[in-house]
Amino acid sequence: MKIHEYQAKQILREYNVPVPIGEIAKTPEDAYKIASKIGTKVVVKAQIHAGGRGKGGGVCLAETPEDAYKAAKNILGMRLITHQTGPEGKIVNKVLVEQATDIKKELYLSLLVDRSRNKECLVYMASEAGGMDIEEVASKYPDKIIKVAVSPVAGFSPFQARKLFYGLNLDKSLSNQFINIVKALYQIFIDKDASLVEINPLVITGDGNLLAIDTKMTFDDDGLYRHPEIKEMRDISEEDHLEVEAVDAGVNYIKLDGNVGCMVNGAGLAMTTMDLIQLAGGEPANFLDVGGGASVERIEKAFRILNSDPKVRAILVNIFGGILRCDRVAQGIIEAASKIELKVPMVVRLQGTNVEEGRNLLKNSNLKFEVAEGLYEAALKAVELSKSKM
Ligand code: GDP
Ligand code: MN
Repeated sequence: MKIHEYQAKQILREYNVPVPIGEIAKTPEDAYKIASKIGTKVVVKAQIHAGGRGKGGGVCLAETPEDAYKAAKNILGMRLITHQTGPEGKIVNKVLVEQATDIKKELYLSLLVDRSRNKECLVYMASEAGGMDIEEVASKYPDKIIKVAVSPVAGFSPFQARKLFYGLNLDKSLSNQFINIVKALYQIFIDKDASLVEINPLVITGDGNLLAIDTKMTFDDDGLYRHPEIKEMRDISEEDHLEVEAVDAGVNYIKLDGNVGCMVNGAGLAMTTMDLIQLAGGEPANFLDVGGGASVERIEKAFRILNSDPKVRAILVNIFGGILRCDRVAQGIIEAASKIELKVPMVVRLQGTNVEEGRNLLKNSNLKFEVAEGLYEAALKAVELSKSKM
């Protein structure tokens, strides 16, 4: 789960990481009031779940409260397009009005999970080239990225912070501040079940202190039940509406970029199905696991989700009937498909208990299904259909 910058800054504050003073505004009038209260130059920042706001016009410096009013008026309600939002952009509903900072240098610092390492799977990344995306730093200045691994079993040790400190060529006067920030990132990460804690830029101010100007945090969804205070920060309006619907329906759904929609029972079978779609020359539109004991209601909800994804050009249903018998699944598919006006062709592959009865039900229904026996055969058919003209 992602949260907004202003929420992540609240967490940084709780862990004594210095952040600028500021408040959230939903109207230009509020922005004016906050800027007057701060009493100095401010920065007005769009709050959306995407980075690159600066380049997209979502971060604006304002000398006076009047300027802050104007900046907020421009930004609030705008459709902000950044390299992370996609071409459709995101509507801005809130801005953060903060005391502006005199920036001497911008640094990058983050802590994240690196799945390519097994024992030391947490990794700090730091760079002197802060401000830009880490992907951009990695491609432009790969030797300017410092990585320091941390074992979650052994935990954080100060030497790791010192390594980062020396790697960044920071002035000695900053060592205590820096080490405290590095340590705080680890504590936040562990305490809150985070999957990424990033400060970008972490700046050296004109008066020679460190300050977190921008921050991004993401959290492990499966850990959220332990953190009601984080769960409360969820902003559904920022999330993919189909994924939100799926959570409510109790199906595991992840939207992807392809156009073959799939509906499968069981996560392993769903992964295999996606692999075979790719092997057959197609691209899956999603991962969707309706679960082991998928009911008719769930199948129906899953169809609705697939059907409302405009990218889906063909649907592949792959169900292994175990406890839930194939004939029962077939009935469910027929019922659900007759309620929903399916916009695209569908291939159904069933295996398992009562498979013959199931296939016959599908073949004899007056709905149009392609019935397949083998999984690869099903994938080939679905990919072919996804490429044919509608
Ligand atoms: P992002 O573009 O979404 O990553 O938003 P950031 O908050 O990182 O802002 C982008 C850039 O705007 C930063 O890298 C800074 O260069 C600049 N910026 C943000 N806040 C301030 C500020 O208070 N003072 C100055 N001088 N620049 C700022
Ligand atoms: Mn940033």
